[in-house]
Amino acid sequence: MKKQALLKSIQTRTGFLTLLVILFWIKYLFVGYFDFNLGLSDPYQHIILWTSPLGTSILLISIGFYFPKPVVSYVMMLIMDGLNTVLLFANVLYYRQFSDFITVKTITNAAKVAPGLGKSAVSLLNPTDIFIWIDIGVVIILLVFKKIKIDQRSYGLSTPFAISSFGVFLIGLNIFLAESSRPRLLRNTFDRSYVVKYLGLDTYTAYDGIKSAQTVQDNKSINTAELNRILVNRQKNYASPNKRLFGIEKGKNVIVIHLESFQQFLINLKVNGKEVTPFLNSLYRNKNTISFSNFYHQVGLGRTSDAENMLETSTYGISDGSLFTSLGSENTFQAAPQILRQHNYSSAVFHGNVGTFWNRNNVYKNLGYSYFFDQKYFSSARTDKIGYGLKDKLLFAESIKYLEQMQQPFYCKYITVTNHIPFSMDEEDLDPTFKTSKTSDTTINNYFQTAHYLDQAVKEFFTYLKKSKLYDNSMVLIYGDHYALSNSENQTLAPIIGASKDTWNDFNNVQMQRVPFMINAPNLHGFRDNQVAGEIDVLPTLLHLLGIDNKNYIQFGSDVFSPNYKQWVVFRNGTIVSKKYVIIGNKGIKGTVYDRRSGRQILHYSKKEKAEITALAKKGKQALKDSDLLNNHNLLRFYTPLGFVPDDPNRYDYANNYQRMLQITKMLGSNSTSLYSQKHKSTTNLYKTDAIQLQNRQKEITQVPASAFANN
Ligand code: MN
Repeated sequence: MKKQALLKSIQTRTGFLTLLVILFWIKYLFVGYFDFNLGLSDPYQHIILWTSPLGTSILLISIGFYFPKPVVSYVMMLIMDGLNTVLLFANVLYYRQFSDFITVKTITNAAKVAPGLGKSAVSLLNPTDIFIWIDIGVVIILLVFKKIKIDQRSYGLSTPFAISSFGVFLIGLNIFLAESSRPRLLRNTFDRSYVVKYLGLDTYTAYDGIKSAQTVQDNKSINTAELNRILVNRQKNYASPNKRLFGIEKGKNVIVIHLESFQQFLINLKVNGKEVTPFLNSLYRNKNTISFSNFYHQVGLGRTSDAENMLETSTYGISDGSLFTSLGSENTFQAAPQILRQHNYSSAVFHGNVGTFWNRNNVYKNLGYSYFFDQKYFSSARTDKIGYGLKDKLLFAESIKYLEQMQQPFYCKYITVTNHIPFSMDEEDLDPTFKTSKTSDTTINNYFQTAHYLDQAVKEFFTYLKKSKLYDNSMVLIYGDHYALSNSENQTLAPIIGASKDTWNDFNNVQMQRVPFMINAPNLHGFRDNQVAGEIDVLPTLLHLLGIDNKNYIQFGSDVFSPNYKQWVVFRNGTIVSKKYVIIGNKGIKGTVYDRRSGRQILHYSKKEKAEITALAKKGKQALKDSDLLNNHNLLRFYTPLGFVPDDPNRYDYANNYQRMLQITKMLGSNSTSLYSQKHKSTTNLYKTDAIQLQNRQKEITQVPASAFANN
């Protein structure tokens, strides 16, 4: 009987709309509970989650109702439902990789990051994803087989208008409920998951779109008064150099190795009785290495590019996308390559992916890089690449022919890629003596293999540096850019790193954001530095080691060796780690706070704790806000630090790097300081790699490929 009534009720147009809304509602809730980690705590939050998708889905699907022709009306309702599902599904996939939601900026910049993303999208699919699509399929079949008949009556405008209005009413109700549970929700959006939790995905997306449009508007109304305030604020936070270390590496080459997705827990970790990264472990305890044990990544949505931005400029990434892709083409920077150029440094980046990825080809010019060696400067056989580009062992090996032509001192950066999600490896590159874990999560098992490979690649490069003696007048800086495993994978990982799955909490998740940071140079007295520090602090620290005072630059980090260094970092989502505390989110004492050393949650605050935590939370917000103001409004174009000569980005053409290097060498004649000129011969024969692809292919190591000479 009931079934009959149900079938009958969906034979009307309103019934059909109701059916679509209910089906969408069910799958939204499914995704909300099983795919997204929204941190629902009290029953009220569950109720809000349940109401959040209703208003917008009614409003969207009701658009189809306005079409007078019945068939068109049904098709349009299905299309609106389908589009809403596409948005939901895209966010599910995105969330699996980044534990975050898609922003409008991510979509508009998709073209700039797209190459290479396709493959990992497939690996992100889950069998349960069928639930997101199956309802639309079933409804279409029911329509085709006339189990659902198209209601031929005409409805005019009043019915659809009433339905849309009802949708709008529900949206209003939802906002009211959300606002009464979390006042100022929309004004303080550090964390997108809150907006989704309280307002649903559609409202979040619409809100985010409006906000991005506003940012563009705001840009016009900001003036240099803000810049002066930021400048004064930064100078108040200036940390003067440590006398013992200031200038200790003056005039040295700087080699930065960006370890893709490399987390601190890998250091000294054994899997099946063997070290995952034996070489990096040895470097970690090397007598010439200052190595950090509590160094945090601070990236946001821009991931790798955010890490790069922090290291190059000591400003934070932006809150709603990648600074590189959104602002990097236009903004004025005072970045490491430019600052070092004032001290006679040349600069280069080596990276085995396409130059357009993260908009690097444009950004690097604005950062002041003289050379950018992207994919076309390296071999390109099919087996030479995997995932996001050239395999790391090949990148290092094939870079030497360029590196040895660099005028010294130089500042060079290697961006590795093999250790990138989904951590795929070709069979031929696996080390048969290393057996990885056998957890239920293949991402984790794969991760150890690619990290092991990366470790070997770095070792081969170091061996070359020492053999060629380039090492003697260089300092090497190694860091991990960001996490590899998401919070949902951490629990599977827990037993491997000696933790418990059952007691795993937010504190553990924060501690998983630690990445390696090591400074190695032959004249350094190494030690283990246990201070809390982050990516934002690298540039000031580096500059002071090189004997360059950062006092006149607007930088948000501090020299970690300074006697006035304050141990604290703020993540892009507002979470703060200090010497004493781990403050989750940006809510200060109103949120969750842990004692950093014991890992225990602080349940009752002393007066002193209250004051300290509140001050830290305020400082964190201010730092992010000022950095955003500076970058979003491109304020550095109004400021030139004392003694800093900006250079013209247009003078770099990355299509003719190699020719330019040779020209400079020729021009300098006996004054050329390149390794090649010093030795009067190439050092490429000193490079030894066990990469199977390069066996019997000495040509790739020694000769510049034809693609490097292509005019484009
Ligand atoms: Mn990365």
